[in-house]
Amino acid sequence: MKKFRLYLFALSLFGLGVLTNCGDKDGVKSLLFSIEDDKSLGLQVSQEIESDPVTYPILSEIDYPEAYEYLNGMKNAILASSVVAYRDDFVWQLKIIDADILNAFATPGGYIYVYTGLINYLDNADDLAGVLGHEIAHADRRHSVKQLEKVYGVQLLLSIVLGNDPSQIEQIAAQIATAGSTLKFSRDNESEADEFSVKYLGDTEYACNGAASFFSKLIANGQDSGVPEFLSTHPNPDNRVEDINGHASTVGCSTSPISESGMTYEEFKLSLP
Ligand SMILES: [Zn+2]
Repeated sequence: MKKFRLYLFALSLFGLGVLTNCGDKDGVKSLLFSIEDDKSLGLQVSQEIESDPVTYPILSEIDYPEAYEYLNGMKNAILASSVVAYRDDFVWQLKIIDADILNAFATPGGYIYVYTGLINYLDNADDLAGVLGHEIAHADRRHSVKQLEKVYGVQLLLSIVLGNDPSQIEQIAAQIATAGSTLKFSRDNESEADEFSVKYLGDTEYACNGAASFFSKLIANGQDSGVPEFLSTHPNPDNRVEDINGHASTVGCSTSPISESGMTYEEFKLSLP
């Protein structure tokens, strides 16, 4: 036990060293967790997700090359924004999960998952780009690490990252992927992810308020009690539409729909199973 405590102490010193050496990047608050820790945790969570095809039926890039080309093109356009702080540091890997679920999620370090249920629900490329921007923001602003620190405490979390407790990775994967879990983001985190989605998309040809369309559609369909991760009940959908459009007008970015060259959003949907 004494040895274990010493070990944790050494870990926390290591963490503090990272904190003082790295400093903040683009206003992202430094955590005891380093960027490498984010990537390591993200890799382990992604491996857990990909080892469980029953819960997470991921479409293979070999079987669906056109769909992945389309989606990766969208992702790369968003990541080209200089507002993305860790665009050169994180992995930014995108996978499609084939299930009729209205959700998308991102792990620390930038492993992003989008459900076909969400892709099919949305009407155009701008809407999906808005949701992707939101998920990229959760990883880039390190929201899930901040939440995980609250749930596990930084020392246990660092210990998990070092592979000392594999069973915890399975639990963390489920918490990140499941709506309404204990990892539910704070109201501030959700608002910030919406705001940064607007900022990222402001540097692209997508309508920068694309994230608002999803909420508008949920409201129009009376489905705002479905509570996917990025919907959550706080702030409520009406406020989120208002806030997203407010950010767009503050930033002064274009809200005109993208004119797609090459594959269209409809063709992208049709290329999925
Ligand atoms: Zn969210």
